Amino acid sequence: MILNGQRKTDVEIDAKTRLTGLLGSPVAHSLSPVMHNTAFQCLGIPYCYMAFDVPERALKTAVNGLKSLNARGWNVTMPDKTAMCALVDQCSPAAAIIGAVNTVVNESGILTGHMTDGSGFMKMLKENRVAVAGETVVLCGAGGAARAVAVQAALDGVKKLMIFNRSESKAAALADTVNRNTPCRAEAYALADQKTLQTSLLDAALLINGTKLGMAPETETSIIDTPQWLRPDMAVADLVYHPRETRLLKMARSRGCQTLGGLGMLLFQGAQAFELWTGRAMPVSVVAKQVFHMEV
Ligand code: NAP
Repeated sequence: MILNGQRKTDVEIDAKTRLTGLLGSPVAHSLSPVMHNTAFQCLGIPYCYMAFDVPERALKTAVNGLKSLNARGWNVTMPDKTAMCALVDQCSPAAAIIGAVNTVVNESGILTGHMTDGSGFMKMLKENRVAVAGETVVLCGAGGAARAVAVQAALDGVKKLMIFNRSESKAAALADTVNRNTPCRAEAYALADQKTLQTSLLDAALLINGTKLGMAPETETSIIDTPQWLRPDMAVADLVYHPRETRLLKMARSRGCQTLGGLGMLLFQGAQAFELWTGRAMPVSVVAKQVFHMEV
């Protein structure tokens, strides 16, 4: 079968099909099932991906069930990413530092937890030729997504991380985690300290929005209000993917900056999980086109 110009192989679900899936609540609007099933079908490999609405109190029971059924692995969404850390046998170095797991691999009953939000973000940068090793990066946000990105960026060689958050104590806790576990130097500030944010942008290679500012329905909000603070030679990434182009990214585009929307991170965090389960590279261009209607 030919689908959107790509060969699509019909794979029957049979006795050899391996189960993967998503645990969390709510999961009904997740794009992960269609992303992974599109990729399995495209490569013609015997896996399927299901979404399971599991409240946090039932997480342990669900994990034991999946283990008994010899599921190949699963993703975990909020609010279960932290709780999953305690339910696996071992964690990847990044997941251990972050203290959260979004992908589990089941190898003959041994569960390994990974955090592909950060590694997916870094892969997305690489695919877009944004080099940050040895550079200064400004990160706004200190929630779950920002934490994953900060730790992976630090592990991947970012020299200095300037973290701004609405609650300064959470920025300080994240900076402390980075400083204790990686060679990167991290500093923490309140997001309200816009003067320091402006100064930090003078020599940053990349600005990342890891807050909810700009996310629908509050699309007119942004971490900064002055486009002139952005230099045309810097890159600006937003983790928010609804809308695809946030107010921040519109400002950055108007200044001539390279802009990176949140869908790229969503795609590549999935691609990293896919590879951990199957040992195969996700056909990202097919998935991007069919699921997100975008080119990568
Ligand atoms: P989270 O853990 O709840 O963290 C929310 C972050 O936003 C915190 O830093 C919070 O600051 C900040 N924030 C919330 N409302 C704010 C406001 N009115 N003013 C200033 N700061 C505000 O959420 P998360 O999981 O990290 O998600 C953050 C964003 O990333 C969301 O838009 C989410 O959709 C997106 N995301 C994208 C991907 C992807 O693959 N692209 C993956 C995960 C998340 P405080 O600490 O002060 O509360």
